[in-house]
Amino acid sequence: MAGAALLGRLTWLVAEVVDAVQETPRVRTLVLEADGWDGHRAGQHVDVRLTSEDGYQAERSYSIASAPGEPLAVTVEELEDGEVSPYLVSEAREGDRFEIRGPIGGYFVWDGSGDAPVLLVAGGSGVVPLMSMIRHRARTGSRTPTRLLYSSRSYEDVIYRAELDEPADGLEVFQTLTRSQPPGWTGYARRIDAEMLGEVAWSAADEPRVFICGSTRFVDAAADGLVAMGYPPLSIRTERFGATG
Ligand SMILES: Cc1cc2nc3c(=O)[nH]c(=O)nc-3n(C[C@H](O)[C@H](O)[C@H](O)COP(=O)(O)OP(=O)(O)OC[C@H]3O[C@@H](n4cnc5c(N)ncnc54)[C@H](O)[C@@H]3O)c2cc1C
Repeated sequence: MAGAALLGRLTWLVAEVVDAVQETPRVRTLVLEADGWDGHRAGQHVDVRLTSEDGYQAERSYSIASAPGEPLAVTVEELEDGEVSPYLVSEAREGDRFEIRGPIGGYFVWDGSGDAPVLLVAGGSGVVPLMSMIRHRARTGSRTPTRLLYSSRSYEDVIYRAELDEPADGLEVFQTLTRSQPPGWTGYARRIDAEMLGEVAWSAADEPRVFICGSTRFVDAAADGLVAMGYPPLSIRTERFGATG
């Protein structure tokens, strides 16, 4: 398989945790330093490999949250009974080390070029690679008209809340809270549906570029809704984190 061959050329690097930021009660960002890390593009991910004392290894993928040119950072949501995420969110301390390889992925990438508007659609921790794109856009002073539609369960679960409350010029942020909303909430309060997409998404005639990330079910629902609005399937790039999320 070409993908496997490509991965084979990536070497595992030892990464050290140099900073940790609690984003929400269940989500933490780890800033990593790794000798030999060559930088990344917005939207790419790394593989993380943990090795226990008895030699047992577990590997998972994590999107890169930081913009190209910034220190490497991943943002991880803790899944109950998960093998890897509880360590990264609740246990890893500054100075801890584990292995990473990457950057991985050339398809779910936004390099900031082109005039077409951009639509970003995120469910839960699916906001992570989209945040790398948003940060890249801000760092490079891009004026590309960009909209983010971001679905979280509750206000407390909104990752990068403070940063998203102050979007850069030309970035519009639309949020929906699916399970509970704080008093005075003015955003949406339901799962993403056709009506919401109709209000938030660019017209298909504007030929927007689309990046959707989240659980498989979330991504499929959002992509199907946009196709029903007339978006060409090939204009929609998706990243699926798995069944949960
Ligand atoms: C390209 C890519 C990028 C990703 N980026 C991110 C990211 O930026 N942030 C992020 O938080 N996640 C991301 N993920 C998801 C991440 O890779 C992991 O899947 C996630 O962290 C869960 O890993 P875990 O080891 O904690 O849980 P796992 O051990 O894999 O378990 C996952 C869930 O399945 C359940 N489970 C496990 N085994 C069984 C079983 N035998 N029977 C029934 N249920 C079971 C567990 O209870 C748990 O709820 C990404 C995934 C991909 C593919």
